[in-house]
Amino acid sequence: MTAISSAARAQAQDLLDFIDASPSPWHAVATCEARLKAAGFYRLDEVDRWTLKPGNRCYVVRGGSSIVAFTLGSQPLPESGMTLIGAHTDSPGLRIKPRPAEDHGGMCRLGVEVYGGPLLATFADRDLGLAGRVHLKAGRTHESRLVHFAEPLIRLPNLAIHMNREVNEKGLKFNKQTELPLLLGTSDAALPADDRFRQLLAERLAVNADDLLTWELAACDTQKGSFWGVDREFFANSQLDNLASCHAGLSALIAAGDTMQTCVLALFDHEEVGSESAVGAGGSLLGDLLQRIAGACGLDAEDQRRMLARSFFISADMAHAWHPNFPAAYEPCHKVMINAGPVIKHNANQRYSTDGASAARFMAICEKAGVPCQQYAHRTDLGCGSTIGPILAARLGIASVDVGSPMWAMHSVRESAGVIDHAAMIAALTTAFTQQ
Ligand code: ZN
Repeated sequence: MTAISSAARAQAQDLLDFIDASPSPWHAVATCEARLKAAGFYRLDEVDRWTLKPGNRCYVVRGGSSIVAFTLGSQPLPESGMTLIGAHTDSPGLRIKPRPAEDHGGMCRLGVEVYGGPLLATFADRDLGLAGRVHLKAGRTHESRLVHFAEPLIRLPNLAIHMNREVNEKGLKFNKQTELPLLLGTSDAALPADDRFRQLLAERLAVNADDLLTWELAACDTQKGSFWGVDREFFANSQLDNLASCHAGLSALIAAGDTMQTCVLALFDHEEVGSESAVGAGGSLLGDLLQRIAGACGLDAEDQRRMLARSFFISADMAHAWHPNFPAAYEPCHKVMINAGPVIKHNANQRYSTDGASAARFMAICEKAGVPCQQYAHRTDLGCGSTIGPILAARLGIASVDVGSPMWAMHSVRESAGVIDHAAMIAALTTAFTQQ
């Protein structure tokens, strides 16, 4: 029997609630912002001049889909550096095009782009909703509003096996242009698809359809998170990669309270598409903020460099758990098991930022937190994924480690992970923020 403490169960339930409230990266940032505000953090705007002092708890949002929160510690930055935790707010999936709706053979369909690398077949036959943000005319300018259709609205029905006889041997494949459009309804001769879609959005937002300018919308799963397994030791939800790490980092920052060291939590959009954007980890966001925090604390350029040289970055992203049905997919000496603790990810080709020293540092953090940890390396004959770790390590020159909780079915619309692992990750990250 897997013994699960009530505290671990509550943390996992809190994660499922966090994800259910965060069906898009914009919603994820809004959910984080609400939790930070409730914990006493206040918002800084990038267009203002900042003055900061020890004890300040602040956050910055860029572009609505990336957020950086920090607690200024009591120790001087050049002497203590910062502890940073990073994760990403985006998940792979289907994004609605700017002019998506078309009437096709008597049906109204929405055209999609494939965002990142989803397991496309998992989106078929799901009860899908829509979530994201809509941009509206507002006088001489515009405003953006979040929108979430949490009920089943759109669908990608499978082709019956009678027309796809080899699907179980050859796998489920879609032509991305012609076979992925999502069904929205039966065509209406009196209302073209485009007008109908605009009306749908306008009604949901209680605005005039003429005021709709454009939108950023993702197909989202409407099924809420759930526990499964004989001891309910696993959970399933959409976007565990990487909202589970966002939630763990956020929980750690809030639990850490007032700290001696300065703690930074940086959650970025666009990891799944390479991070090269104004809000992504490859952009200037974190570098700009660290420089501004240091400047607002009165550090000169020399002391800013000393601060970075003493800092430590933990890149938290999910890891691949060993799957008993597919043993050949794994490196046999690096089997990572669900509910056996946080995973340190290694790759000699720097797809992960971990080196021996940073791995040792994270092992010590886990030991201090009283949680086990595991080590992962990908099969040598398979291409390895990457994370924001190497990108930020290169940009900032900070010692970095790549870690994550083990999970199954990465990039499925319904991923799975372990209750004990999530609690262990929160414990390790909280220890990283509070250990000095
Ligand atoms: Zn990820």
